[in-house]
Amino acid sequence: MAGQRTILHADMDAFYASVEQRDRPELRGRPVVVGGAPEARGVVAAASYEARAFGVRSALPMSRALRLCPEAVRVSPRFDRYGEVSRQVMAVFRSMTPLIEPLSLDEAFLDITMQTTAHGGAEAAARRLKAEVRRVTALNVSIGGGANKTVAKIASDAGKPDGLLIVAAGAERAFLAPLPIRALSGIGPKAEALLTAAGIRTIGELAEADAGQLERMFGSRGVQLREMARGIDQRPVEPVQERKSISAETTFAHDVVDGSDLRQELRRLADEAARRLRERRMRARTIVLKLRYSNFRTITRRATRAQPTDERDVIAGEAERLLDVVVEPGDRFRLIGVTCGHLSGLEASGQLSLWAPGDARATPAGDAKL
Ligand SMILES: [Mg+2]
Repeated sequence: MAGQRTILHADMDAFYASVEQRDRPELRGRPVVVGGAPEARGVVAAASYEARAFGVRSALPMSRALRLCPEAVRVSPRFDRYGEVSRQVMAVFRSMTPLIEPLSLDEAFLDITMQTTAHGGAEAAARRLKAEVRRVTALNVSIGGGANKTVAKIASDAGKPDGLLIVAAGAERAFLAPLPIRALSGIGPKAEALLTAAGIRTIGELAEADAGQLERMFGSRGVQLREMARGIDQRPVEPVQERKSISAETTFAHDVVDGSDLRQELRRLADEAARRLRERRMRARTIVLKLRYSNFRTITRRATRAQPTDERDVIAGEAERLLDVVVEPGDRFRLIGVTCGHLSGLEASGQLSLWAPGDARATPAGDAKL
């Protein structure tokens, strides 16, 4: 089909825990839980598959995790190490295509539309990528693929661990239909509860739902969700040239929930980024929001504008909109950051990192910078 894309979603399996098991052979085959100490009210940042068999999951309080699985070995997170491995993994991805969009340390979208034929098809390309990640890092990556981001992401989840699942062109809707709505990346607990109350439990049911009803529930996002449920998603894979970016971020002394403090800090960071852009007579076309949750999961989400900007209100508005999309009730954050990328203007070179005053802890290198 003309215009058919091939998108892969690659996601390392139990990333932090797998790195620990790789680096410490005595941990292999044992339940490993990465996270803070239970005495310090730590939470689980990652659990090995052996620990998951006991019901241990990310974001559980560590005390609870150790009750579920008393023989688990707890390991404190080593973000420098994970950042190092992350850079190796992203370099492997980039060796296949320059069109990679990292979503976190261990997860990225790749647009391999132009490379598929040379590799003998999407599945062969994905297989090669898995083998190369394994050769370089000795770790497993799960890969899903298909015509767009929605399908690729769900396919990588469906295949875990050590998965490889390519959804054939034309089969998107049938693949998605039987899955629960929460499998869609735009649907968190809040949206899931609303949809379930409306009798919509599967992606297939969402695909058939009334547009007006969805719009009343979710605004303009409602129709986009239904399109995704139908296997339609035009969003491009957006590589960020992080070497040409300006970042401002804050690590909080205590975890912060969504509310006026978080929003105020976000606007302050936007203000700081805008000021530095103007100082350098540059404008940004992408605004990236970075969030680190209390369980150490770190995500980035980006918005791309048609017109580059150096205006504080525009940058803050985009960042807040991204926050609105990802935040769920009860989420707690230990870090928030704003990066302005795709700069145009004078001397758009060099990563300019702006640490917030009083920021005690360096962020893992290569995190949002990938
Ligand atoms: Mg992962």
